[in-house]
Order: sequence, then structure tokens, then C-alpha cells
Amino acid sequence: MIIAIDLGGTKIKIAVVDGETISDSISIDANSHLGFVANIPRLNIEIKNLLNKNRIMGIGLATPGVVDSKNFKVLGINEKYTDLVGLDVKKWVADSFNLPFVLENDARAALLGEWQYGVGANLENLIGITLGTGIGTAAIVDGRMLKGKGYIAGNLGGHMVLDRNGLKCNCGNIGCMEAQSSTWSLPTIIKNHPGYITSKLKDSSSLDFKTLFTLARENDSYAKEIRDYCLEIWSLGISNLCFAFDPEMVILNGGIMASHQDIIPYIETRINQSNKLRPSGKIKVQMAKNKDTAALFGLQYLLKGK
Ligand SMILES: [Zn+2]
Repeated sequence: MIIAIDLGGTKIKIAVVDGETISDSISIDANSHLGFVANIPRLNIEIKNLLNKNRIMGIGLATPGVVDSKNFKVLGINEKYTDLVGLDVKKWVADSFNLPFVLENDARAALLGEWQYGVGANLENLIGITLGTGIGTAAIVDGRMLKGKGYIAGNLGGHMVLDRNGLKCNCGNIGCMEAQSSTWSLPTIIKNHPGYITSKLKDSSSLDFKTLFTLARENDSYAKEIRDYCLEIWSLGISNLCFAFDPEMVILNGGIMASHQDIIPYIETRINQSNKLRPSGKIKVQMAKNKDTAALFGLQYLLKGK
């Protein structure tokens, strides 16, 4: 039994993971713009509360950003939790709870979770995509999670450029996959559309993917155009990742997967259209078994043997 913490953009999930199940969990407001340290007092209270009720063997933390998992360091992070860079997170856990600790990037943790406890079980070549506030990616090749010299191998697929005349990304580049289609950029994409004024989208209180997919299903022609554009952007990005990493399965997780029935079949068809150079056959596209909690299970896997 372990405690797994997932630092999201709006919420921090703290959960007790016990094998295949999450036996206890709490979600707290993140206030991520205030940083990580500002959240520590609340985290200490919630973690101690869970420690009193359960026999916990270790603590894992999944975070956005570039993570040196060997040395327990966040090397770089964009806009949220910026004070994690250089912070000795392992010392916080050791001083406060005296338990074994693991730190991993959230998209990598999610793919590890699905590889060990989800739809990727028994496979050796997988790509994981977290579609949410931003887009995180990870790749397992020949049974090994790719890391690279600076811990970014396979991890920053959300920042591959898909349109050099596209929107400005928060990484400083132009036209990245997540600038062209993710929750943070969607309001700009919608408002830039010439049909926005006459679309039902104009009357919506929140310009998120749930609203977009709902209005598209109700035949709002502009919502349909923007939805199809976003599906195409994800398909292009994932197709590029497939040529780079040669997976047998692509696993999607994250908040946007609430609309998975509109997303999975489109992407699977689209990425398999370019199959002339792929004699190994069709690439499966699957929703994660634990679409909102895969990273928590990945942390449990990393804590094994610690
Ligand atoms: Zn970018």
C-alpha cells in the first residue's frame, strides 16, 4: 500500500493505492500558480491523515515538467509549480514522513501505470498520451521507458511543431501540438474562428472540450469544424510519434478522454492510413483503463522494491 500524489493544473490528487485499487483518496485545490511550497502545509495534513489510517510503504509524486527521476529533481517546468525546480523534494518526504520516495513525470507515470495495471499489460512497445490542460507524452520501447540525456526523450511530444504559422505556445515556440489543440489553448482557438460570433459556442460559459464535443454532436457547424481540426492535430502528432517510436499500441488518458467515443476511432483510423511502410500491422489506439488515475498506479510500480 502506497500514497500516490498527482500534481494537476487545478487539483492535486492524493490517493492510497493498494494493488489494483485505490482504497482512499482526496482531491485538493492546487493553486498551482502559487507554486508547490505553498501547498506543502496542506499536503502534510492530508498525508499524515492517510498514514494514520493505513499501513503505507512509500510515497510517490507525479508532476508535470522535466523530471530527473534518478536524482529526484524537477529540471524544468512551465508556468505551474515553478518552485519545484531545484527543490529537494526527497528531503521534504524524508524529514516529514521517513518513507521511501519516487518522483516521476506525470505522463511517464501514467504510461507505466497502464503498462503494469492497464490496457498495455504484456506489451513491450507503447506510446502514452495525456490529453488535458497540456499534452504530455511518453514512450516505452522494447520494454524500457525512454529517458534520454536530459530526461526529455519521448516526453515532450506535446511540443512537436505541427504548424509553423500556428499559435504561440507557452514553451516559446510557435504551432506546437498543445498550442494547436489542448485545454489551455482551446478558448483562443475557438475565439479565433471566423464563425465564433454566430456559433452557440459564443453563449457557452466554459470553452472546454466537453462543450465543444457536445455542441458538435448537436450539429453546430462551427463546433464541428473546430472539433475536426483538433482531432486532426492529435492524429498528426500521434502519427509522427508512431513513426519515431514504432509502438503496437497508443494509450490515451487525461480529462479530454471524457469524450473518448468521438476521439479514439478517428485517431485509430487516421494514423493507420499511412501503413505502407509498416509491415508489422495495425497500431491499436486505446483509452487507458484508469483514464484519470493511471499515474497513481505508475507510482506504485516505481515504488516496488524500494
Ligand atoms: Zn510548445
